[in-house]
Amino acid sequence: MYSPQAPLSLGEGPGVRPSNEIKNTMKLNLNVQPLSTWLKPVNENTPLVIAGPCSAETEDQLLATAHLLAKTGKVAALRAGIWKPRTRPGEFEGIGSIGLEWLKRAKAETGLPVATEVATAKHVEEALAAGVDVLWVGARSTANPFTVQEIADAVRGVDIPVIVKNPVNPDLSLWIGALERINNAGITKLAAIHRGFSSHEKTAFRNQPMWELAIQLKTLCPELPIINDPSHICGNREIIPYISQKALDLDMQGLIIESHIDPSIAWTDAKQQVTPSALADIIDHLTLRHSEAQNAEFSDKLAELRKEIDRLDDQIIQKIAERMNVAEKIGEYKRDNDVTVLQVNRWDEILQKRITFGKALKLDEDFTAKLLELLHNESIRKQTEIMNAKPVA
Ligand code: PEP
Ligand code: MN
Repeated sequence: MYSPQAPLSLGEGPGVRPSNEIKNTMKLNLNVQPLSTWLKPVNENTPLVIAGPCSAETEDQLLATAHLLAKTGKVAALRAGIWKPRTRPGEFEGIGSIGLEWLKRAKAETGLPVATEVATAKHVEEALAAGVDVLWVGARSTANPFTVQEIADAVRGVDIPVIVKNPVNPDLSLWIGALERINNAGITKLAAIHRGFSSHEKTAFRNQPMWELAIQLKTLCPELPIINDPSHICGNREIIPYISQKALDLDMQGLIIESHIDPSIAWTDAKQQVTPSALADIIDHLTLRHSEAQNAEFSDKLAELRKEIDRLDDQIIQKIAERMNVAEKIGEYKRDNDVTVLQVNRWDEILQKRITFGKALKLDEDFTAKLLELLHNESIRKQTEIMNAKPVA
């Protein structure tokens, strides 16, 4: 049941949405400590896993879950929401401050470091006073710079790890801005959580992964640890193993997974929580791969293949430039003959023919279509520029 195999026809969202403001060539200057200085996996063969209920509900529920999680010997820290940001009023908004006492007990009895979400200065104060080890900023808070700044001001001067979830909307600048605000307050034990993005599109996910945004963040700041939250991406327990494996394969540094002693009666996020023993099963089936080559022969082979990729990429770029030159010539010709830039029939013909060709070469249909669309859009942009350029006198 908990195989990390991709279920068939699992769309993963609209894909790349390159941000206009954030360029891949930029560097993000965050002063961050390695994750291992403040949170380590239980051993080198196990991924870093933070687990626990979506919400602390009762003292019994939290303590029983915490003990079972500790007993698996696979969990590095305990998570539990004490204050829950809910979309609609009247839903369970978290047990509040009393839950901190339960968290304190769970920590004392299991020895696990504990983490909770904070959304106001008061939450920060109370969590710190209760000895919470890791604070996280929730997706709704990250989307609001006022809230993030309030949290940043409250942690200023305190040596506490803070993890920042991506904002609900797919906006990399907002995510980065929140990380910068917390970092500017002197927090160097800093990490990001990738929990997916809400979208109007209906897919198999509660929040679309849009991996590209997490990858873009990692490219901008390779030192920043990114932890994946498969629970909130999936919204159901069945596909958690698949997303967890994919996150590890993309070199994310850990997982935060919701686990409840009895998910069927959980007060929040019931469909996506797993029992501690199901969690252990998921972790057992994950494969940890290394980000760096482990032996010389492998390194040599990898270097050789990378050279091949570099050579092919150079050729692709060269061919794209050639294609653009031809498109520009067509643009001039269309301008001189008063023909519109876009001819839908021609575009449809390109698309159909190349998709068929791509399929024959084992390229994914969706991928070929997206690539062609990107090329076509750029050709149209160039041709429109040519059409509207002032005629040379
Ligand atoms: C949570 O972790 O339970 C939570 C509310 O997550 P998010 O902020 O990602 O929605
Ligand atoms: Mn939750």
